[in-house]
Amino acid sequence: MTDVTGTKNPDPSAAPGGPAGAGYQAAVARLRNAYAAIPPGQPVRLAKRTSNLFRFRDGRRSAGLDVSAFGHVLCVDPETRTAVVGGMTTYEDLADATLAHGLMPLVVPELKTITLGGAVTGLGVESTSLRNGLPHESVTEMQILTGDGRVVTATAANEHAALYRGFPNSYGTLGYALSLTIELEPAAPFVHLRHFRFDNPEACLEAVAQIARDGSLGGHRADFVDGTVFGLDEMYLTVGAFSDVGPWLSDYTRERIYYQSIRGPKEDFLTVRDYLWRCDTDWFWCSRAFGVQKPVIRRAWPRRYRRSDTYRRLVALDRRYRLSAALDARRGRPAREFVTQDVEIPVERGAEFLRFFAGRVGMSPVWMCPLRLRSERAWPLYPMRPGQVYVNFGFWGTAPLPPGGADGHFNRQIEEQVTALGGHKGLYSTSYYSEEEFAERYNGAEYAKLKREYDPDGRLAGLYQKCVTVK
Ligand SMILES: Cc1cc2nc3c(=O)[nH]c(=O)nc-3n(C[C@H](O)[C@H](O)[C@H](O)COP(=O)(O)OP(=O)(O)OC[C@H]3O[C@@H](n4cnc5c(N)ncnc54)[C@H](O)[C@@H]3O)c2cc1C
Repeated sequence: MTDVTGTKNPDPSAAPGGPAGAGYQAAVARLRNAYAAIPPGQPVRLAKRTSNLFRFRDGRRSAGLDVSAFGHVLCVDPETRTAVVGGMTTYEDLADATLAHGLMPLVVPELKTITLGGAVTGLGVESTSLRNGLPHESVTEMQILTGDGRVVTATAANEHAALYRGFPNSYGTLGYALSLTIELEPAAPFVHLRHFRFDNPEACLEAVAQIARDGSLGGHRADFVDGTVFGLDEMYLTVGAFSDVGPWLSDYTRERIYYQSIRGPKEDFLTVRDYLWRCDTDWFWCSRAFGVQKPVIRRAWPRRYRRSDTYRRLVALDRRYRLSAALDARRGRPAREFVTQDVEIPVERGAEFLRFFAGRVGMSPVWMCPLRLRSERAWPLYPMRPGQVYVNFGFWGTAPLPPGGADGHFNRQIEEQVTALGGHKGLYSTSYYSEEEFAERYNGAEYAKLKREYDPDGRLAGLYQKCVTVK
């Protein structure tokens, strides 16, 4: 076991030796006391520096739990290819710690400050998800501070197996993951990319189905697959293969912009680290809202702030002070609705979704990421069918409301279409479901059982309240 906390983490409360170590145990005891000291009825939240939620807090007073002691990698074991990781550790730190051993997590979400606990409780998807499923599927054990103040260890086979299985998509409403044991896989130093162009959604989605069957496209091995839709007649699948060599290496943290490069040369090489964060520098394409893609502004914008967390903070400020809304109103422009969502649609219906989205909402680009559960059993609170190939479509931005249109105009249509096509919607952003619909989509019966067992007094918000009611 290699203890990496000594080099990566100056925090003395971090836990040499992992969850059994004295430092970790003391941090757990402090957290339990802090939690017990919060008066009943006062809303609780994690006091974290970063977030990737797209629901902005309603300003109610809540007690922030200091979880900084759980923001580090505890240990990486190259022998068993596993790591023990604090629940609030960012994937940026986690990937650095594991790549140092030639290993990486089975799924690394594309934004640097997404944390392991956030991706497990809030779901995550990335370009290895067709091979490796979702982040929670490579977790073997979790230590969780439950809503009723206990600290329990949950695995697939122990007395807390129901919590282990119900934790994904519970968004911190049953408890907080303090540490997680995860599987790792070997990573080569480079990724060899090829971009395949399609001029209609049907051909593109058929190619996704073919990759799911064969594990490659055009003879190129598909260790990684994702896609970018610029329009119904211009979309790309980007297929990446681990490579031991990098004959040339691109760098998209400087003048060049990764998502634009997809339309250029058909082939590319990146270091594996640059590949993992290829979309972070420009928050996929969302940095264009700040002008960062204009050469003059890009040069002036310090490189260390070309990161998704910087842009997310700017959006949060804009939402809080309603700056762009006020500007639009002043210029006589229509009000805009936030349409920031990730949805999963069965691959067979993916082309229909793209045509619906282009016709009704019209935002572009759209991100595509194929995925398939790694497990043979479904996960209760996000009931995707084992064996079924889905495509995650991600779209992040705003759309102008038609005359008379109110907030929810686009998002409600998307929710209806997702259901009609047999898909699911992630809950990190706004939702408009009624309580009954929500319970039907996200297994309300199983959730209620877990809530009774692990948070009977409702100290943490309920899932519907957290994900739908609080806008
Ligand atoms: C523009 C955009 C792009 C995105 N792209 C991707 C992507 O490419 N891949 C991907 O996988 N996801 C993506 N997401 C979604 C993102 O993964 C989720 O929002 C995720 O939940 C964020 O994790 P976080 O660590 O930032 O958690 P936070 O935003 O801090 O929290 C999210 C929720 O999880 C809870 N939570 C956080 N940590 C824990 C814990 N340790 N235990 C229990 N509950 C906890 C919080 O209470 C909160 O309810 C994207 C989101 C946006 C807005």
